[in-house]
Amino acid sequence: MSEMLHPGATIGILGGGQLGRMLSVAASRLGFKCHIFEPGAEPPAGHVAHRVTTAGYDDAVALAEFAASVDVVTYEFENIPTEALDLIEATRAIRPGRRVLAISQDRIHEKSFVNEIGLATAPWAEVSDMASLEAAIAKIGTPAILKTTRLGYDGKGQARIMAPEDAPAALAAMEGATAVLEGFVDFSAEISVIAARGLDGSVACFDPGENVHKSGILHTTTVPARISEAQRTDAILIAARILNALDYVGVMGVELFVTPKGLLVNEIAPRVHNSGHWTQAGCTVDQFEQHIRAVAGWPLGDGSRYADVEMLNLIGDDVAMVPDLAKAPRTQIHLYGKAEAKPGRKMGHVNRVL
Ligand code: AMP
Repeated sequence: MSEMLHPGATIGILGGGQLGRMLSVAASRLGFKCHIFEPGAEPPAGHVAHRVTTAGYDDAVALAEFAASVDVVTYEFENIPTEALDLIEATRAIRPGRRVLAISQDRIHEKSFVNEIGLATAPWAEVSDMASLEAAIAKIGTPAILKTTRLGYDGKGQARIMAPEDAPAALAAMEGATAVLEGFVDFSAEISVIAARGLDGSVACFDPGENVHKSGILHTTTVPARISEAQRTDAILIAARILNALDYVGVMGVELFVTPKGLLVNEIAPRVHNSGHWTQAGCTVDQFEQHIRAVAGWPLGDGSRYADVEMLNLIGDDVAMVPDLAKAPRTQIHLYGKAEAKPGRKMGHVNRVL
């Protein structure tokens, strides 16, 4: 492993949110320094990182300086303009690479890619205007969900179409953005696989977690997921197939719908993932260390699960529960250092060992 980064090396992270914060903590435990690049002021990752650059993703000078100051670059959120990566890539390795970022930024690219490698998604069709929406409804039927192709997260940019009459309002909700119509999946569960691939091509997947959403935002992830052994194996094989097809390096979150006809890929996230936070209390090497190991060219660590865990997100005013949670046994609290608890804002999470 001649490409192993040595302790003391610096890992550049694009994005300074809670994922960057937890990546920085994991990196520092392995002796690395982190340099955060983030447009917003006071990023949560800044409290625990070695260095922070506050600049826009279109600031070529700042990006060049950032690249020159680090040994490798990774990212903690997928909506980074690919032009920023082009500038960095000229001088520094970016792991995971630019291609997966471009794929995951656009639901149509993402679904096309997933289908091209032989994996199933909900039926879908591209929608740009009323005529294409009507054609899509004729093909897919109702109920269905209309989603903007770009910049949607936590259920934002989505509209349900229960019957064809709902079409005009759903289209208006897209505010002119290109959209994709997805058939409504009658799933028995939502699960995700947090999967890792090393620089040497080795793949290791964490045990699938079962996810429950509230108002479109992840509420809890529980392991073990209530799925059969065959479904567990399928989930892991699907994730591994995606990573190999992309020659991926790092951790990825693969969200799946469990249906009687098999598993459908909902979304891929080329980064550590909220539904993988349980690994902090359930595995020797959690998703954050696993990602740092991969991007640093280290061997992947042992992510086998040794406990049953429930991860609960603390959203907005949920942080008021912290004094009580602090008294609870077998409970690990993670707070992100965000000053203001706005509705829908992820303030922290707790991992309860069951
Ligand atoms: P997304 O932003 O695409 O991950 O969607 C957020 C959540 O909406 C998912 O986790 C599901 O709970 C629900 N959802 C999204 N797409 C579908 C679908 N095609 N059928 C049923 N539920 C969906």
